[in-house]
Amino acid sequence: MSFIELADVHKTYGTGTSAVSALDGLSFTADQGEWIAIMGPSGSGKTTLLNLLGCLDQASTGVVHIAGSDTSKLSRSELTKFRSETVGFIFQQFHLVPHLTALENVMLAQYFHSMTDEKEAMQALQQVGMEERANHLPSQLSGGEQQRVAIARALVNDPKIILADEPTGNLDAENQRIVLGLLSDLHAKGRGIVMVTHDESVGRLADRRLNLEHGKIKETVVFSAEENEDFDEVLEHIWTRSEPTDHLHATEYTEVQWRRLVNVMTRIGLLKIENGETVFTPRGEERARIVIRRHRLSERLFVDILTIRDDHEIEESACKFEHILSPEVTDKMCALLGHPTECPHGSPIPPGPCCPGWDAWFDRLIYPCIMS
Ligand code: ADP
Ligand code: MG
Repeated sequence: MSFIELADVHKTYGTGTSAVSALDGLSFTADQGEWIAIMGPSGSGKTTLLNLLGCLDQASTGVVHIAGSDTSKLSRSELTKFRSETVGFIFQQFHLVPHLTALENVMLAQYFHSMTDEKEAMQALQQVGMEERANHLPSQLSGGEQQRVAIARALVNDPKIILADEPTGNLDAENQRIVLGLLSDLHAKGRGIVMVTHDESVGRLADRRLNLEHGKIKETVVFSAEENEDFDEVLEHIWTRSEPTDHLHATEYTEVQWRRLVNVMTRIGLLKIENGETVFTPRGEERARIVIRRHRLSERLFVDILTIRDDHEIEESACKFEHILSPEVTDKMCALLGHPTECPHGSPIPPGPCCPGWDAWFDRLIYPCIMS
């Protein structure tokens, strides 16, 4: 059984002619530790869904199963216990108690869970970099700082899953970065996250996105074109590591971004971890070979035919070309350039089907990769 299982869930507010159907036959499952983004227009049922997952509300019909419990069968006291032990909430409006300090706000969550423990609460504040502000009131903290306190509060009882409703909705870019960094770290440590967001770039951090429309799941977006470009970029980074020449890279990733990308790419079978090192799977290596070929042929085109000399310009343009060239155009370009074997920096260009010696190369290197 999955960690979260929703089957044909309906949620209706009100009755008769004034009834509003907020969720209309929604089903999905999620594994423990998954990061799921819930997206969709205003009024599509995102908050309702999150409230059902956190047992702040109950479904009208259908099954909501979380961490082995059928939540519709829990009594009031069991629901309170479930909420404090299983889930941690983060809201757009932070919802800190105004007359309590940061530390007291965190301890309040402990109070509902079991017993207050100042040392533990302080450790939770440390995790979000707020220990110096422990004795400040919410009104003495910026929005970003308040949200970090709210994250500490969500973490203090060591919940299995974090439910976040537009957690960065009220934050500026810098604080958004900090909060998303914290969530990424928690996820990397195995914590499940279900996060409502309007923001496509925030949604892209998740393992999976569910798009809601009129209380139904419209589609699960797996990977956008932009994400696929990120995957290609990571493959290129790894490919060039084993080469003597230093190559420019169009995108440099932060540690958090890199870790996330490697996690996703490992999950979908492009990379694997071997002796603590990130390496290609055969499929990843094959994809890397094709991207590197497109990239380096583009570089040759810019240097040899278009006589561009600026390294940054060449790199930037090659990075655009590598995503848009079809296999046919790539081979035509290769033929036009006389099947070059080296990029302008002297690194090898992997051959393609149009190149001399391709059959032997294919049998030796590529066929085994495709078949594995
Ligand atoms: P979202 O978070 O995607 O904006 P909500 O889950 O808040 O959407 O709301 C879904 C629908 O249910 C909306 O039409 C909203 O007006 C309605 N709704 C939500 N909560 C209530 C409530 N407590 N009473 C009546 N209608 C509600
Ligand atoms: Mg909402």
